[in-house]
This record gives sequence, C-alpha cells and structure tokens, in this order.
Amino acid sequence: MKEKIHPKYFKTTATCACCATYEIGSTLENIRVDICSACHPFFTGEQKLIDTAGRVERFKRKYAKVEIKPKPKPKSKGKPKKK
Ligand SMILES: [Zn+2]
Repeated sequence: MKEKIHPKYFKTTATCACCATYEIGSTLENIRVDICSACHPFFTGEQKLIDTAGRVERFKRKYAKVEIKPKPKPKSKGKPKKK
C-alpha cells in the first residue's frame, strides 16, 4: 500500500434507527443509519403504505363503479377506400 494516501480504517459499529447494531469496518466511526436489513420492508416482507391523506382509499372508491369494457372492434370490413 502506498503511504499517506489511505484514510484510517476503523472497526466500528453501525447503529440503525431500529436499534440493530452491526460490527463493521469503515473509515468512519460510530455510523448511524435510518434503515437496515432488519427493518427494511424488502427484507421483512411487510409492506407499509404511507397513506395519510386517504388517497388510496379515495382512488379505490372512485374506480369501484367503473367497469372495464372490451375494446370496440375497428370497423374495417371490405376493401380499403381508394382516393
Ligand atoms: Zn434497522
């Protein structure tokens, strides 16, 4: 390794907002993170919908009545028109 160009490498702990701690090596000390593999929805399999304004509810109510109609067939019987 070349001298005086590498930052100090610490053995430190990364602490998540969910109180999980991880022993890691890093150039920073005492890392704090907001989310980790113990609490991220991708890993927990739980899905939290943040829906404070009730928008999803309103969307569902609005489109509950709407029926999906099949597409009308294009009227192209016979020969194509000549100009
Ligand atoms: Zn976490």
